[in-house]
Amino acid sequence: MNHSTATVIATYSRRMQLRLENGEQVDARIKGKRLKPVCGDRVSAEPIDNESDWLITAIADRDNELKRPNSRGQVEVLAANLDYLVVVAAAEPKADWFIVDRYLCAAELMGIAAAVVYNKIDLEADASSAAGELANYAQIGYDVVRCTAKEGRGIGDIGRLLRDRCAIIVGQSGVGKSSIINHLIGDAMLRTSAISGKTREGRHTTVNSVMIPLPDGGYVIDSPGVRDYAPALESSNIAAQGFREITEAAQHCRFANCRHLREPGCAVKNGVENATITARRYESYKRIINLTEQLTDGRYP
Ligand code: GDP
Ligand code: ZN
Repeated sequence: MNHSTATVIATYSRRMQLRLENGEQVDARIKGKRLKPVCGDRVSAEPIDNESDWLITAIADRDNELKRPNSRGQVEVLAANLDYLVVVAAAEPKADWFIVDRYLCAAELMGIAAAVVYNKIDLEADASSAAGELANYAQIGYDVVRCTAKEGRGIGDIGRLLRDRCAIIVGQSGVGKSSIINHLIGDAMLRTSAISGKTREGRHTTVNSVMIPLPDGGYVIDSPGVRDYAPALESSNIAAQGFREITEAAQHCRFANCRHLREPGCAVKNGVENATITARRYESYKRIINLTEQLTDGRYP
């Protein structure tokens, strides 16, 4: 038997594309019903006799998972083994900073670095309201890039941040993620071939997610199907860990188990009052707590 280690580089519901250790790309299906590989997974796979397909037989332990609650209240894993997250916002559609914070919260809980990319700077609209938010993200310690995929400015900066990393690019639909990726790879053919796989034979139709190699090294995962996003937290008690500036201030709260909501001597609330923590980020924190409590209600009595 010709057992190999491989990386999942594209998923189409139960069908996958793998990159073998020798760089070869193969199609694969999954042994049994229990395994749920996602893009970025390292798997064991073996060729199937007399077929071009390979069979995924096991998934290696994951370093981390980007996950969200799905509509049935279960946790859905979108990608695994990431070391960077790029969240894109834009002038158009109008930036929703709460969505940006939800992704950044997930990145924090995964223990990975992240960038906020503000695209479509060629459109003048709304530049001033974004400036304050972007300055705050930089202040907190995130990489911040302003760019226009239409004109190409700023895209090189994104490429440098992604070098030698396995990143995921996320953000509202229409902000320009595909346009940025196309610019980064410089050759739309690469992307088309990675995505379409077997479309010619009418098998792989909708891609769930795909890992695209970048010319300067590194990979970026695109998950075109993900529209609305919320992080999946086991408990609202860990929400504060998703907000760097809140975690930092929380060291000075009077109570070690302070939730930073109504407790006396709360350094986080003080921080909001003297504007070292923005009221908007604090609102994001409270929304994630509420959302998590709604979702985990009943499951964690
Ligand atoms: P995605 O849904 O995030 O992948 O967004 P797309 O890359 O499909 O882009 C959505 C729309 O925005 C398309 O019509 C793009 O041509 C347009 N677009 C993308 N980047 C820019 C930009 O920097 N400036 C302007 N003006 N339009 C852009
Ligand atoms: Zn507190």
